[in-house]
Amino acid sequence: MPNAIIGLIGGMSWKSSAEYYRLINEGVRDRLGGLHSARCLMWSFNFADIEALQRADRWSEAAALMVDAAQRLERAGADFLVIATNTMHIAAPQIEAAVKLPLLHIADPTAERIKAAGLRRVGLLGTAFTMEQDFYRGRLVKQHGLDMLVPDDADRATVHRIIYEELVQGKIVDASREAYRQVIERLIARGAEAIILGCTEIMLLVGEQDSAVPLYDTTGLHAQAAVERALGA
Ligand code: GLU
Repeated sequence: MPNAIIGLIGGMSWKSSAEYYRLINEGVRDRLGGLHSARCLMWSFNFADIEALQRADRWSEAAALMVDAAQRLERAGADFLVIATNTMHIAAPQIEAAVKLPLLHIADPTAERIKAAGLRRVGLLGTAFTMEQDFYRGRLVKQHGLDMLVPDDADRATVHRIIYEELVQGKIVDASREAYRQVIERLIARGAEAIILGCTEIMLLVGEQDSAVPLYDTTGLHAQAAVERALGA
């Protein structure tokens, strides 16, 4: 029985999609060995198109592009969908309504891992959309029972700016890593027992050595969940 075909909606940014592609292929190789690699399809957006709609608050047009991508992957033969970004999970309900394919939501494997570690009070780093709106935090609170903390106004602006001005463009800046460390420290001082890297590029900048509490990297956890689903956990 061939493995299920993973349908990735990527390009948001391609920097993190490249990580997904590597991690998914490595995950299949680790499970099956030898020459095995993932059966997958990827639709990769021009991120400038998506970012312009985000910045202009044109979310229904952004969702229509996401639905179009999901339908392309469905027509191409994907067995399930992986949206390779946290932010554009804002369109998850529209996608689920428009295609028959199951969607592997990025928040779920992350939350499962946090709960399994017995942790509950969690700091969230991501784009302003992810940190401030309900589509992501709400799922972690209502479906998973986590207690979510977000950075204060100034820290959210810093975290957001570094994502768009640097990380999605592949720029890794030491001063920005230091800024993230300080944001993480302030979340820990407010009681965070763990930090969710809720943007798929943040792991390009910070790692375990930058935090006194465990970091939950959504890119790695989502890619691993995709492998488990494709191969049958
Ligand atoms: N990759 C980022 C995320 O996980 C931000 C890019 C986007 O807006 O999709 O949220």
